[in-house]
Amino acid sequence: MKLLKNSLTQLRRDIAGFCVLCDQAADGGRICGQCRRILPWNDTFCECCGQAVIAGQPPGVVCVGCQSLPPPFEKARSPFIYDFPVDAVIKAIKFRRQLWYVPAFADILRRTLTREFAQVDALVPVPLHRWRQMTRGFNQATELCRPLHQATGLPILMQVTRIRATSAQTGLNTAERKRNLNNAFAVSGKLKSRHPLIVDDVITTGETCSQLAKELLRSGAKTVSVLTVARAACNRPQDRL
Ligand SMILES: [Zn+2]
Ligand SMILES: [Zn+2]
Repeated sequence: MKLLKNSLTQLRRDIAGFCVLCDQAADGGRICGQCRRILPWNDTFCECCGQAVIAGQPPGVVCVGCQSLPPPFEKARSPFIYDFPVDAVIKAIKFRRQLWYVPAFADILRRTLTREFAQVDALVPVPLHRWRQMTRGFNQATELCRPLHQATGLPILMQVTRIRATSAQTGLNTAERKRNLNNAFAVSGKLKSRHPLIVDDVITTGETCSQLAKELLRSGAKTVSVLTVARAACNRPQDRL
């Protein structure tokens, strides 16, 4: 499977019907059947936090971490494990602005949304601090929300901001992530949602989504759910079943 190599393939990738991963015909979709079969699907996961658990567990299994300390959100789902080629595509979107991959992921997120989150009434992209947004030029979470909004009609709430310029979470352990994210988010005005769905590219320990969920709950939401493209392995192997 080859990733983006030249601008001709880039043109084809904007058109539904060509696979964004291998450029072959994709039966009207954006990822062909052959690539779908080798993608790192997150098939066996904790019913609550959505992290991968050992294959063979019965549906509805809850990991040890969620049993001892349930997260503030109702449930999180990620169709993929953060592994090749999904990790490479997410980095291409985020750091090289290759946004033509977004509709392919959004198609898959829409299916997860419809299947798992019938009750949500709004989409909340995890906000970037304005300095990071200015540097990057866009927020990948908002870009993922746009096609979801078009497909489902759910409004995108832009009233949540990241008020603290937190350092990157990569390389921090859970306690450090928690400290790094304290009071990082704020909701302006009255929250226009009772059951918002937080949307992002990757979830790792869930600390970012937990802090944002707490802020949404403080602002009047009754339930908060989480949908991300991929689930990275978190550094709590003892929490896995
Ligand atoms: Zn393909
Ligand atoms: Zn869990």
